[in-house]
Amino acid sequence: MGRIFLSAGHNLGKGGVQSDPGAPTVLGTTETNEMIKTRDLLVRELEFRGVKKDQDLFSVPDTIDLKSTLNWINDRARSGDVALELHGNAGPASARGAEIFYIDGNPQRKRDAELILNTLIEAVPGLRSRGAKPDTISQHERGLAFCRQLRISSLLIELCFLSNDEDMKLLNEHRDKFAKGLADGLMKWSNQTGDIPDSFPSIDIEIKGQIHQNKGILVNNNSFIPVDLVAPLSIDLTKLPDARRLKHGNIDYVRAIDLQQLNVSVAWDNQIKRLILN
Ligand SMILES: [Zn+2]
Repeated sequence: MGRIFLSAGHNLGKGGVQSDPGAPTVLGTTETNEMIKTRDLLVRELEFRGVKKDQDLFSVPDTIDLKSTLNWINDRARSGDVALELHGNAGPASARGAEIFYIDGNPQRKRDAELILNTLIEAVPGLRSRGAKPDTISQHERGLAFCRQLRISSLLIELCFLSNDEDMKLLNEHRDKFAKGLADGLMKWSNQTGDIPDSFPSIDIEIKGQIHQNKGILVNNNSFIPVDLVAPLSIDLTKLPDARRLKHGNIDYVRAIDLQQLNVSVAWDNQIKRLILN
């Protein structure tokens, strides 16, 4: 079983300095405080299910910002672990429901997202589903850092609309149901990821119509290609400081999907397990 990392979205700052309260709610509270309360209940629900805190389950400190959150998780995470960040949505007063974001182009992560969202919706009567969505159609069209910059499987969920009376009533009066639904989903998700081996499946790489001798690897269903192969595409990796890199068997790899930011087309042929770059 993979371990679970939880983050309550936004942060309290240190001593109120550099805090990021997130969106205001119709109850006059802040997104951060609502998410911390929900996360605390979720931790308890996971403990009821036998998950041990600080051993199988880690809560990111509520005082640190997003960048530090990513580092905090990456410093501790092992292959097979999962991470979920909790948020509340804001929009027109009539907008309602939960939605979840996954890294665009990763069908496995999409299934993980649907699993978590569906379990939540089943557990909270009255909560509407807005679906599982690729992170490129979030407010950030280049994707969400929490979905992209962690070295483990990660998802970002918007539990409900903080700007809607009924949604806030649901969260406030049935927070335990939100916590139970999320706990059930996380148990299933982390159970599926536990046995990722230290060696990774290899994949063929085709660049501009040519299949290369050197192979890539699949890690958590993300394709990684050797950095050496990137050179012929005249790509300057220094322009991608946030691209996910990893070292495996003395070879440096970069995550293929990150190359899209430099206008490389990245496609995956699942039938022949081949990554196609142009
Ligand atoms: Zn938020």
